[in-house]
Amino acid sequence: MEPSIPLSPDNVKSLFDSVEAFLFDCDGVIWKGDKLIEGVPETLEMLRSKGKKIVFVTNNSRKSRKQYANKFLQLGLTVSGEEIFSSSFAAAMYLKINNFPPEKKVYVIGGEGILEELELAGFTGLGGPASHHLGRLGTSSENIRYGTLCIRENPGCLFIATNRDAVGHMTDLQEWPGAGCMVGAICGSTQKEPIVVGKPSTFMMDFLLKKFQINTSKMCMVGDRLDTDILFGQNAGCKTLLVLSGVTTLSVLQDPSNNIQPDYYTGKVADIFQFLRP
Ligand code: PLP
Ligand code: CA
Repeated sequence: MEPSIPLSPDNVKSLFDSVEAFLFDCDGVIWKGDKLIEGVPETLEMLRSKGKKIVFVTNNSRKSRKQYANKFLQLGLTVSGEEIFSSSFAAAMYLKINNFPPEKKVYVIGGEGILEELELAGFTGLGGPASHHLGRLGTSSENIRYGTLCIRENPGCLFIATNRDAVGHMTDLQEWPGAGCMVGAICGSTQKEPIVVGKPSTFMMDFLLKKFQINTSKMCMVGDRLDTDILFGQNAGCKTLLVLSGVTTLSVLQDPSNNIQPDYYTGKVADIFQFLRP
């Protein structure tokens, strides 16, 4: 396995010229919690002005695509819902593509975004954040108990995970347990493995490719996690760029036990802009 190369003014042009679409992870790349990462607006503007396609791919299912478009707007970025692929949307699309009967119910252990995407796709969602005295992730022991019952008592009940991320950012500084913790609880109680629709699974990529029809060798996945973003890009044959503005440190990347090596790594997204400047 080739070690990852630091992005630099010398190699940025060859990456840039070979890529037609940049796929950006959100948390740790575009923002941290609710705080925009420095230099993002200028970089996105430059990429758009050079005709590059931009897509956002987030594992965070707490918001729907529409809610994400609002979040981008609040941060001063104009992004259309069509450019956003969230794991909440992916979960609804998974059901749609697999002809899940609309008269059946979907029990949601998670946030508002999943309920909204289910409704937009014509499904009835139960549970979600309003159902119990819940934390911000929309989960409690009651949800886990009920979800476990659904899976154990109903043969054929689908067990879908939006993602298995270990942690997520609630704010710039606060790291909280991610969906992986709840998924793990249900795996433990049901002894079943979920269908994962978020990164690194190929589901979102397959869906995204149908829409954009760009060869994956001309895409670059930019992310801050090795086991979700970089693997997601590599699984599809994309070029990959790790940014160190999120959860992965340089020492984790370079640790001999790490076997996921992106093509390139750099401090933050804005380096693409900086390094390309004459
Ligand atoms: N899930 C939750 C609940 C989160 O809070 C986060 C990040 O904040 C994520 C997943 C990961 O999101 P992303 O794929 O944009 O890094
Ligand atoms: Ca991330």
